[in-house]
Amino acid sequence: MAPDLPALVDEVATIMHAMEDRGRVASYIPELAKVDPAQFGIAIATADGRLIAGGDADTGFSIQSISKVFALTLALGKVGDQLWERVGREPSGNAFNSIVQLEQEQGIPRNPFINAGAIVVSDVNLGGHQPRVAIGEMLRFVRYLAGDDAIAINEEVAASETATGFRNMALANYMRAFGNVRHPVDLVLGSYFHQCAIEMNCRQLALAGRYLMLDGRHPEGGRVVSPGRARRINALMLTCGHYDASGDFAFRVGIPGKSGVGGGILAIVPGRASIAVWSPGLNENGNSQLGTQALELLARRTGWSVFSPPDAR
Ligand code: GLU
Repeated sequence: MAPDLPALVDEVATIMHAMEDRGRVASYIPELAKVDPAQFGIAIATADGRLIAGGDADTGFSIQSISKVFALTLALGKVGDQLWERVGREPSGNAFNSIVQLEQEQGIPRNPFINAGAIVVSDVNLGGHQPRVAIGEMLRFVRYLAGDDAIAINEEVAASETATGFRNMALANYMRAFGNVRHPVDLVLGSYFHQCAIEMNCRQLALAGRYLMLDGRHPEGGRVVSPGRARRINALMLTCGHYDASGDFAFRVGIPGKSGVGGGILAIVPGRASIAVWSPGLNENGNSQLGTQALELLARRTGWSVFSPPDAR
């Protein structure tokens, strides 16, 4: 029987609002430390065109690393499979900002969803232009995906990360030494920090993810990517979307997902739903604590899983 999604979304929001252990808000980007951890939002865009939202689904948050999914989509559109000469496709098993693995692997990041990989993707997307051109392109792209021109960048968050992003500067400089970052580091990071500082609410994020549940189609017509590319992006989200807790997320939730340190997660049920959850408190792996729990509950109650036969979900 098809799940009663509005009732389920309300129930999940109520349960999550009552949770006491909400994790810890990211503090290494000072602007993010100011966000109130008492919030929880959820939105589900379904393949049949509904949008069901609950809790703080209209409150904007910093999408942070979720932007890596959209940046990867753009970069694949520009250079296609050549991207894989500069970035791997294996889960890292390391923290999102680890530098150790980069040395062992000669400046080729493990995957496009750890910071080092996303910085290479930003380098590709810069394509010889000024950061404002690449940032403008990224913003237009997410607005087109979500069908919402109100989506914007939070400049305070971008400035806050620019002032304190020493680790990302180290990663970028390190890869520049290997020739895997080709533009000046400050331009690449200027672009990367702004992309991470895009602000969206759960409704907008769920809408932006629809092409990944629709085998690459834009719900309003036309194609964002080919079916094969959409499947590969989903595969990377499943295997690499939660840093060193990606295996645990696949085990507990069973659908592709990408998290960000702003507390958001975009999760995709191919053929069924694009789901955005947000709660700013993070668990020990830097993924939204309640967001993960909410998706686990939702997946259990709906039967949604990429590991179950289609007729069982
Ligand atoms: N802008 C953040 C950073 O590079 C993104 C990290 C994340 O969301 O996991 O540190």
